[in-house]
This record gives sequence, structure tokens and C-alpha cells, in this order.
Amino acid sequence: MFQWICQTPDETMALAEKLAEHLTPGDVLTLSGDLGAGKTTFTKGIAKGLGIKDVINSPTFTIIKEYHGGKMPLYHMDVYRINSDEDLGFDEYLDGDGITVVEWADNIASWLPDHLLKVEIEHLGETKRKVSLFPVGERFEQICKELMNDENTCH
Ligand code: ADP
Ligand code: MG
Repeated sequence: MFQWICQTPDETMALAEKLAEHLTPGDVLTLSGDLGAGKTTFTKGIAKGLGIKDVINSPTFTIIKEYHGGKMPLYHMDVYRINSDEDLGFDEYLDGDGITVVEWADNIASWLPDHLLKVEIEHLGETKRKVSLFPVGERFEQICKELMNDENTCH
């Protein structure tokens, strides 16, 4: 497990932006944390790192939002209202040509790939957050190590 303490929303975004530099098409990230923890803020950082200029907001009522126009597409899913048996074409996104970020990923556990990066955000104070990355698979492990050694991210 890899942890960072981010003191401001900008630090959280900067960490996500750095992470995005390491991602390649087909990568899947799961985001967990309470309401207001910073999941959408983290996703904004990913989008920024991919060079996406659109405004990112919570996909709660749309389930899946697609953002094009960056280095590769970003698929932002909020599957809070979904149960695993439903097939909403998740494969098309998860095996696709872009990065998929999933909130409430437990609800679609059976669709998720073997290798992914779990991101957990915890509220520590007004603007203080703990961001934990749990890599599943060798490649994500390596990415986390490189991020950890990056002096430009919060620590
Ligand atoms: P979630 O998607 O988890 O519900 P959001 O990203 O929508 O959370 O909201 C997080 C809120 O907390 C935003 O208003 C953001 O500006 C604020 N915030 C304060 N400090 C931080 C921080 N260090 N990291 C992320 N968000 C922060
Ligand atoms: Mg959100």
C-alpha cells in the first residue's frame, strides 16, 4: 500500500495528474471514499494529466461520462445504483481504448479486470486528505513505486 497526505485540493489533483502520466489505454482505477472525500477532485487531476479540457463533474445521474479530446479517452463511472448482474456494456469501456475510473466499483465487481489500481481517499481535516493506492498487479505496483519516489508529489 502507498500513501500520501494531501493538504489541499490542488495537491490531490497534482498527485492524480502525475499518476495519469503513467497510465495506458485499458487501465482501470477504482475510487472509494465518503461523500466529499475528493473522488471527483482526484478524477479532475487524472483528466488534467490526460490533457482533457472539459469540466469534470460527478456522473451520479448519468452512470457513465465520456471525455474525449485528450491523450486518450477518460470514462468516469458512478455505478452506485447498479447491481452486478446488469450488463450496461461495461466491457466496451473496461477493455477499451481509454482510462476507466469507477466509483462504487464493488457493485460491478464481476466486470472488473484482474489488474487494477484501487484508490482510497480519507477525510482527515478541513482540507487534509489521505490518499492510499492499492496496486493489483505488477505493473500498477511499479507505477506506485515511481510515484512514491517522485519528489514533486505531496508526501
Ligand atoms: P467526492 O467525489 O468524493 O464526493 P468531491 O471531489 O466532489 O468529493 O469533493 C471534495 C471537496 O472537498 C471539494 O469541494 C474539494 O475542493 C474539497 N477538498 C478540500 N481539500 C481537499 C483535498 N486535499 N483533496 C480533495 N478535495 C479537497
Ligand atoms: Mg464525486
